[in-house]
Amino acid sequence: MQRVFSGIQPSGTITIGNYLGAIRNFVQLQHTAECLFCVVDMHAITVPQDPQQLYQRTRELAALYLACGIDPQKAILFVQSHVPAHAELGWLLQCMIYYGELGRMTQFKDKSEQKDVVTAGLFTYPALMAADILLYQTTLVPVGEDQKQHLELTRDVAIRFNRRYGETFIVPEAMIPKMGGRIMSLENPLKKMSKSDESPNATLYLLDPPEVLRKKISRAVTDSGREVRYNEEEKPAVSNLMTIYALCTGKSLQEVEEEFAGQGYGPFKQAIADAVVSVFEPIQQRYHEWLESPDLEKTLADGAEKAEKLASVTLEQVKEQIGFLPRR
Ligand code: ATP
Ligand code: MG
Repeated sequence: MQRVFSGIQPSGTITIGNYLGAIRNFVQLQHTAECLFCVVDMHAITVPQDPQQLYQRTRELAALYLACGIDPQKAILFVQSHVPAHAELGWLLQCMIYYGELGRMTQFKDKSEQKDVVTAGLFTYPALMAADILLYQTTLVPVGEDQKQHLELTRDVAIRFNRRYGETFIVPEAMIPKMGGRIMSLENPLKKMSKSDESPNATLYLLDPPEVLRKKISRAVTDSGREVRYNEEEKPAVSNLMTIYALCTGKSLQEVEEEFAGQGYGPFKQAIADAVVSVFEPIQQRYHEWLESPDLEKTLADGAEKAEKLASVTLEQVKEQIGFLPRR
């Protein structure tokens, strides 16, 4: 059976990009694989976070995972900082990954650009991500396209460790959706949509009220011409909107083109707004129930306990292989 691990940072409210590129696929995988899903709070602090906001967003993200359909009877849902083995293996892997490899990571380049201060944690982040995955002997990692490079580094470090110290880690595969793996900003179709984007109009947040979603969609940039046609090079903005619409309705891109043939962007945007609102509304309802439920904390506590048991097996083995003196 496949073992699946994936995480999302509580660095903002999750977006339609996180939903279509990641969570939606998590929900499907939990029926056929052993799944662990994580609120990766230790990753979030690689850039400054307000403590109160981080606290709230951690609960919010956990409630959103559940509201989107993660079933705690099927999957293990937990908070990264509740399982110290992540930080421990993260350090050990920092000592296996090379400075040059980290310097080639495009996410680091993007996130450190034009920043006054850049933390060491932002630079070494891929080592912690590798630890998250390798701790659980993960076989499959469902992520958006932006994480492909970090996944390759995770594989490299697993192979390197296995060669140096003997077979220890399973070398995981990335699972990147063909459609929805890279949802673009509504303001700039050449930029990835991100929950920590400073411009709220660039992003559809899962918790935006319906009228806000409608307004953002009506203001989304489009391309020249008035045809609803899929072509990422010539029509990047319309292609992105078509992807969102197709995934929210279950239609193919061709069906979408046919549906709006000769109609222009107005009716198309109206239909996108209806589709997005109808996907988000039930999630928002369940979110409020989860956020107020005492079961939220209990679910996370159970998840941490289960995750810790699995993680400690790998961590003990790793320490022994490195040559650390066992504690008696
Ligand atoms: P941040 O801006 O804080 O990095 P983010 O929106 O990139 O936030 P992450 O928590 O870094 O979100 O990533 C969570 C998951 O969502 C990852 O699997 C990532 O690949 C995926 N993801 C992020 N952005 C997109 C996007 N625009 N389209 C599809 N998937 C995405
Ligand atoms: Mg990100």
